[in-house]
This record gives sequence, structure tokens and C-alpha cells, in this order.
Amino acid sequence: MNLVESIRSAGVVGCGGAGFPAQVKAASKVEIVVANGAECEPLLHKDLELMIREPEAIVGGMKLLMAATGAQHGIIGVKKKYEDKLDRIKIALHGTNIALKFLGDYYPTGDEYVLVYETTKRLIPPQGIPLDVGVVVNNTETLRNIHLASQNHPFITKYVSIGGAVVHPSTFEVPIGISFDDVIKAAGGATVSEYAVFVSGIMMGKLETDLSLPITKTIAGLIILPTNHRLIQRKSLAMDAMLRIGKSACDQCSYCTEFCPRYLLGYDIQPHKVMRSLSFTATGEDIRNQWAQLCCACGLCTLYSCPEDLYPEETCEKVKKDLALKAIKWNGNRDIKIHPIYDGRHVPLKKLIDKLGISEYDVPAHFMDKKFSPNQVRLPLLQHIGKPAHAIVSIGQQVKIGDVVAEIPEKELGARIHSSIDGRVKTIDDEIVIEKV
Ligand code: SF4
Ligand code: SF4
Repeated sequence: MNLVESIRSAGVVGCGGAGFPAQVKAASKVEIVVANGAECEPLLHKDLELMIREPEAIVGGMKLLMAATGAQHGIIGVKKKYEDKLDRIKIALHGTNIALKFLGDYYPTGDEYVLVYETTKRLIPPQGIPLDVGVVVNNTETLRNIHLASQNHPFITKYVSIGGAVVHPSTFEVPIGISFDDVIKAAGGATVSEYAVFVSGIMMGKLETDLSLPITKTIAGLIILPTNHRLIQRKSLAMDAMLRIGKSACDQCSYCTEFCPRYLLGYDIQPHKVMRSLSFTATGEDIRNQWAQLCCACGLCTLYSCPEDLYPEETCEKVKKDLALKAIKWNGNRDIKIHPIYDGRHVPLKKLIDKLGISEYDVPAHFMDKKFSPNQVRLPLLQHIGKPAHAIVSIGQQVKIGDVVAEIPEKELGARIHSSIDGRVKTIDDEIVIEKV
């Protein structure tokens, strides 16, 4: 099997959030492979812990991907503040054409547009992808999984950080499909009785209260916060209320735009103008289009920049969805010119953490080598971009760890799913539930 087939067979998808099937990137031709180890979401540390624990696997995956894509250079983007923890990865890089690129400790260094610029000085065209500038980007954990795939190991475990209001903030390697509840208990449980969970981060993640939900291929971690925390209350507000408040309270100070990382990189995004257009009712939609479409949903404008605690990020997201429904295409300015103050206006992670009101939880989440043996796992058929996988097992069937339980629909973009435990298939609908026997 070549690398593309091995990755496809192992069900590897991007671990950086979106879950793009990794075989597609491996089949491209590029000049540079970039590893995203920036990990800028507050309180998440799983990429760092993985780099400390399995550096050889990350570098191995990088070498394989470079060979497959024809890339002459590899760059691993990682925070400078972690340099003293990376001795093993430096050793693994000896004699390779892969370099470490140290990044500042600001948010959002992990955004693909920011990362590609910081590591290669290339600017992705508006609405483009790294491939447009000869680059492919993969999360460090994806590279580790590509290495494992080349040795015929399926993607069945996930690194996750558990942080916030828990007894022992930690990073674990868990079976995919294990419940949030099981993993929170492994971190000693919550320190508060009433809480909710930010899945994959406070800035870009989703808020959930259902602890029976499973860890999927794309979840980077769980951040537990008390229900009365301001961030949970803000995130819980209905979209209608967010828009109504924005319409009446935005004073057009433009701080949301002035701190926007994409605006500072030179892209034509101006959230304060999107906020202004809220007052235009239906007549300003084509204008809003110009200013919202290049938003990467980093959340900085809503959670850091806006002095009025408004919701420019959510407003941009809503506008993008509305315009997509109406098939209104983006036709903004394609000239990219880095803002002269780009280097001087980064938002330090520490300042962001202070502003979010989570400083008390800002502690390491060291890897804890714990063996998990869940009573059941829930494996959603859609844990990736593309079409849902289709089940190839039946209810009552015995499966072994690593067995394929769902396949990619023919000629579609997707990813295989494997059982992460030995067990018996209990139910099949939009997920396959396997219980331990
Ligand atoms: S920062 Fe807030 S108040 Fe200022 S323009 Fe943006 S949304 Fe309006
Ligand atoms: S969420 Fe706000 S700050 Fe982030 S890219 Fe979008 S508009 Fe800019």
C-alpha cells in the first residue's frame, strides 16, 4: 500500500478541528509541509504533550508526507515558550530538511492563514487554502497518526486535554468514542457541582452540557467551567438576542476590526462594518458580504476586543450562513497588504486568558499514562468533512479493537471508522454503539 492508501485505510482525518480526510492532502503536490503545533486555544495542551511524548512519530509522519507530496522543506510551527521542552524533537530532526519555527505566544497563531504566513512568509489568497501557495498544513497529531497508519495502525485513540474546573488538569490518550463523563472522571472529576463543557476550546469550540457525548476524531480537549461563569452565560445567549443587542449597542468604535488577526494580515474583513450593516435590515446584505466572508471564527472580536461585550464573531458567522443560503458570492478586495502594525498588535495569550476570566485555571495539563476500558463507545458516522461513513457491521456482531465498522461511501470524500474496543455492536443509527463484552 502507498501512503495515501494507508492513510485512507486507517481512517486518519485532521486533528486540528475540521476533520478533513488526510489522504486528500497526502495526494497533493506541494513545496512545503507545515506542522501545526501552535496550540493557541487557552488551557489546551495536548499538542505540546504529544510533542514531548511522541516526537519521533510526528517527525516520521512529516517525512512520509514530504516524500508523498514531493515537498523539499518541512517546518514545525511551535511556541517559543516551549523550546526547553523540545529536546527530543530537536534530536529527531537531526539530518532532516525539517526545521522548527518558533512562534510568539499570542492568539491565534494556529489559524492556518496566520501560521502559513509566520512559517513561510506566504499569504494564502482570500478564500483560498494553503495548497494555493504550495503548502500543506497538518496538525502534529495528524502527522503522528499518518506515521501510525504507515505501520497499519488504525486511528482509534485520541489525545485530549481536560482542563478548567477539574481536580487534576491532564492530557490523556483515550479510545475514540469514550464519553466526556469517563474522561472528566479520569481527571479527578469536576471541582464544582454545576458546570458545562467547552469542547475543543473556549475561543472556537462548542458549549455542551451532555456528558454522555463521545470523544471524536476531531476533539482536542474539554474545558470545564462553572455554569455561572460569564463565558458560559455569554455563549448560551440566543442568536436573535445577540443580533438585537448588537444592533442597538454597537458604537462603531472598530476595535473588533483593529484587533482582527485576518484584517491585520491584510485581508478584506471588517467586522465593525458587518455590525453596522445589522441596521440595514435586508438592504445591506451584499455589502455585509464584503466584510464577513474571510472571518475564521477565531472569536477574538467577541471575547477580547469589543469593549461593549457584543457579538461580532457570531454576527459574521450568521451573515456567512445567510449569504451562502442565498448563493451570494464573495467579491471583496483581493489585494493583500500586511497592516503596518501587524507585528505590534498581537494579542498575548496571557492577556486573553486574563480577559476571559480563566487565569485560575491556567496550569499545565501534563500527560497522564492511564489505561481506559470504557463499558461502551459511541462512534458517530460523521466525524470528518465529507459524507458520513456507512456501517458494515450489524447489531449483535462481535468486533475486535481495530476492526473496520464503517466504510467510506463509494466515490465520496470521507473516512473509515474502526472499533476502539473489543465488544459487541449494540445499536446503529447515525452512530455505532459498541458495548464491552
Ligand atoms: S468592537 Fe464592539 S462596539 Fe466596537 S465596533 Fe466592534 S462590535 Fe461595535
Ligand atoms: S472572529 Fe472576529 S477577530 Fe476573528 S477573524 Fe472573525 S472577525 Fe476577525
